[in-house]
Amino acid sequence: MSATLIKGTEIREEILEEITAEVKEIKEKYDKVPGLVTILVGENPASMSYVTLKIKTALRVGFKEIQESQPVDISEEDLLALIEKYNNDDSINGILVQLPLPKHIDEKKVLNAIDPDKDVDGFHPVNVGRLMIGGDEVKFPPCTPAGIQEMIVRAGVETSGAEVVVVGRSNIVGKPIANMMLQKGPGANATVTIVHTRTKDLAAHCKRADILIVAAGVPDLVKPEWIQPGACVIDVGVNRVGEKPSKKNPGKMVAILKGDVDFDAAKEIAGSITPVPGGVGPMTITMLMKNTLKSLKFRLGIQ
Ligand code: NAD
Repeated sequence: MSATLIKGTEIREEILEEITAEVKEIKEKYDKVPGLVTILVGENPASMSYVTLKIKTALRVGFKEIQESQPVDISEEDLLALIEKYNNDDSINGILVQLPLPKHIDEKKVLNAIDPDKDVDGFHPVNVGRLMIGGDEVKFPPCTPAGIQEMIVRAGVETSGAEVVVVGRSNIVGKPIANMMLQKGPGANATVTIVHTRTKDLAAHCKRADILIVAAGVPDLVKPEWIQPGACVIDVGVNRVGEKPSKKNPGKMVAILKGDVDFDAAKEIAGSITPVPGGVGPMTITMLMKNTLKSLKFRLGIQ
């Protein structure tokens, strides 16, 4: 293997330790800790396990955490009232509504009801606009793109003037990370191309990339010959391609996960690469914690 592995699991630990130290300092100085409320509607097993991980991480870094588990038949009106309650609660800095919501609830209406200054997921149109403007306007960059940028920076990869190619144009990964990488400022200043399903020659674009960010949701989409020797490859894709017996708990089956890049071949060509799992995945919740801490700091006027 020639490429350096960019391990999200290690970067996560570094960042969570930094957050824990900062939370302690703020508590000593201001007698306040970041407050996060997680709102879960129904009992979707995947959503329950995401929320559990978010709560566990929030408690680990010293946040106040409120868990709101609501029945699957909660009315839209009651859910909006719950959000309003936390919009008006000064001890809460971040409001998280776990998606997907049941069909009778308008997801867009619910997300747009969150106070943009507590929207630590960064999905509210106001925060999307702030991200587009860039610089000091940005409050809460969406967590997965923020995690990607943080990994690139911490891996010591030069972004200024770099050719960045982003595969995928979703609102949660492709579009925001492309926007972040082209802004003026550290960890950015790149020349950015977004490619997608209608792009004519995907391979030719990818081959130009000094930094290739792939978020398509197609296993092994990116072939080794599409990678420029020495490039930094960030594989955001998480694809379930089968099942295997669990190492920890024999008898139980666990998913076999694959990224969007043919990792085994790509690692012989790239200069640095993220694995799947253990690459971008662990960064999302980490950046959610960072956004919640930022939210308190904005409130205290120390950001
Ligand atoms: P999405 O389905 O919303 O968007 C995928 C994008 O990829 C689309 O814009 C589409 O045009 C493009 N695309 C799909 N197939 C393509 C192809 N053959 N050629 C070129 N472009 C193609 O997906 P998303 O929400 O952006 O997620 C993408 C992947 O990243 C998924 O595997 C998802 O599970 C993963 N993901 C991981 C994390 C994390 O690790 N924390 C977070 C979000 C998404």
